[in-house]
Amino acid sequence: MSALLAASFPLSTWRATIYLVAIIGFVIALKGLSSPRHARRGNLVGAAAALLAIAITFSASSVTHSTRNLGLALGAMALGTAIAVPAARMVKMTAMPQMVAIFNGVGGAAAALVSVTELLHVHSTGVSPATYEVVEAVLGVLIGCVSFAGSAIAFAKLQELMATRPIVYKGQQPINAVVGLGILGLGLAAIVTGSTAYVFGVLGLSLVLGIIFVLPIGGADVPVLISLLNSFTGLAVAASGFTLGNSLLIVAGTLVGASGMLLTRLMSKAMGRSLPNILFSAFGAVVTATGTAEGLDGKAVKSSTPEDVSVLLSYARKVVIVPGYGLAVAQAQHVVKELADSLSAKGVDVFYAIHPVAGRMPGHMNVLLAEANVPYDELKEMDEANPEMPTADVALVVGANDTVNPAAVDSPGSPIYGMPIIHADQAQHIVFLKRSMRPGFAGIDNALLFDDKTVLLFGDAKDTLQKLVAAVAVA
Ligand code: NDP
Repeated sequence: MSALLAASFPLSTWRATIYLVAIIGFVIALKGLSSPRHARRGNLVGAAAALLAIAITFSASSVTHSTRNLGLALGAMALGTAIAVPAARMVKMTAMPQMVAIFNGVGGAAAALVSVTELLHVHSTGVSPATYEVVEAVLGVLIGCVSFAGSAIAFAKLQELMATRPIVYKGQQPINAVVGLGILGLGLAAIVTGSTAYVFGVLGLSLVLGIIFVLPIGGADVPVLISLLNSFTGLAVAASGFTLGNSLLIVAGTLVGASGMLLTRLMSKAMGRSLPNILFSAFGAVVTATGTAEGLDGKAVKSSTPEDVSVLLSYARKVVIVPGYGLAVAQAQHVVKELADSLSAKGVDVFYAIHPVAGRMPGHMNVLLAEANVPYDELKEMDEANPEMPTADVALVVGANDTVNPAAVDSPGSPIYGMPIIHADQAQHIVFLKRSMRPGFAGIDNALLFDDKTVLLFGDAKDTLQKLVAAVAVA
């Protein structure tokens, strides 16, 4: 019976079937990750599918590979787990983009190494590699190395190990072109001759390209770049899937490539900017904001006190909280919920208006507020929140700036013109919580700060919110 089963279902068929199950698991995981409600489940399904894929790969490899390589692979996995598990558990929400950058970067490097190793392996057997094998290797090395070096620079920027603003220098475009042409030439030479020396040339220049491609991208554009590099890593993994003849790697890599590209597009759209503008305009290199408490027409901002604002909030019917990057920096998610709860207890209708790119990565605000157990039905996405803004008594803007800047609607010359915004300006009163008159990421003035309906509460968001909670309790 078992002999019959083994004959009709050889190991390769079992492997292909289990790979198919893992692939379906990855698709279900992606679906789950598209909503905060199901994200945790999606993550677990994805992890289980990856575990299944690893298990079957090992059971198949053990038949074909030497025990020594198996030991090396298991050792590498143990080392990776020992580094990644505590890192992922301890990472702060604000440091999430750089964590994704570094994980993504090592994925790209691994894909590039697989491509090189497989080519060396073909050469070691004394056979010349087929053209398609060299093409796969060159593509895997190119995309994987750009992704690795680019992600390393993105990590250094986000971790503030180097200047976060765009770095521009003379002759930038010609230098990029020379490096690009160099890679093209070496790649073609590798394909024509099949020589690994040219592939190593591609490897070196691709690392340089990764660095010079990322240097002029700065500030909050870096997460868009990480999403793009993540997509590149997916493609590099798919290329190594072709090299290894592994269907799972091809599908998983393509899924990552496609979802990364879609995310990149969504983020650019939410910022009202094209992808080439994000990648090549060195946005944020020049700060045009005056950064003073006096507007262009001499109007001064009105600063208020927590006591006055607490009265405004307590006697309002509807309060809309607009969270932004500053809320994340101040780690004020728990105390903002405390304020919302005490206002709700007084009969005030409170909800949060979430801009798709508020903060420094998509979903930043959702995750942060979910961490503080804010119920999902109190979070309204921009399109759902905006029609309610004219009926709001107070828009409480906590550490947000660009995402409520009316210049996006009424100043055609502004760099953020066309970016969809939360219409905080349509509320009856606007309260900004920020520390100074410094601008947001875009580096431009915000006329809403000088509006007659606006007051400012200067200070760290967490600190100010704590004072507001105390003042609301006695208002
Ligand atoms: P902004 O960067 O426009 O503004 C943040 C505000 O928070 C500033 O006004 C700052 O003022 C204030 N702030 C900073 N720290 C604190 C603190 N500790 N306490 C109180 N206030 C603080 O943030 P938004 O969320 O409005 O906009 C996000 C920007 O990032 C947009 O330009 C968007 O395009 C961009 N972006 C977002 C991406 C995403 O995926 N989420 C991706 C790429 C770009 P002050 O220093 O005076 O306190």
